[in-house]
Amino acid sequence: MNRRHFLAGGLVAATTALGGGLLFRSRASASEGEFPVTRTEKEWRKILTPDQYAVLREEATERPFSSQLNDNKKAGLYACAGCDTPVYSSETKFDSGTGWPSFWAPVSEEAVATRTDFKLVYPRTEVHCATCGGHLGHIFNDGPQPTGKRHCINGVALNFKPGLPTAS
Ligand SMILES: [Zn+2]
Repeated sequence: MNRRHFLAGGLVAATTALGGGLLFRSRASASEGEFPVTRTEKEWRKILTPDQYAVLREEATERPFSSQLNDNKKAGLYACAGCDTPVYSSETKFDSGTGWPSFWAPVSEEAVATRTDFKLVYPRTEVHCATCGGHLGHIFNDGPQPTGKRHCINGVALNFKPGLPTAS
């Protein structure tokens, strides 16, 4: 991380030295501030599958009904596919009929962060992993109670972990 700060201070020299400046090609969600887990684009490409990379790092959207997790009704946690941090739980998952895994709340308020996305004609609330900045999906206001929120999440951005931690 110190290295990242250093490079940001000497942008021109650093990008030249790195041959192409891949470090700075990250999208807004990943470059807006610092995340506990940061990696270069090259490292992400190594760690993630091409589909995971497209969604998490480039904010692509998977085809609806393409993720097995859409229909998954097992109890467990959904971790960010980028950094393995739990972001959603089966306890707030519901069938939205949209073809994307949907949740009415994240596993904790700290697990995810949002920003406004103007990619379409109307602004949307983009949601990303608070730990690595990976794009997860969008939040809409037509979800069920108690929150009224619908977190519309790309299944490819999630790793399902069966079993919920037991309350102690
Ligand atoms: Zn993450």
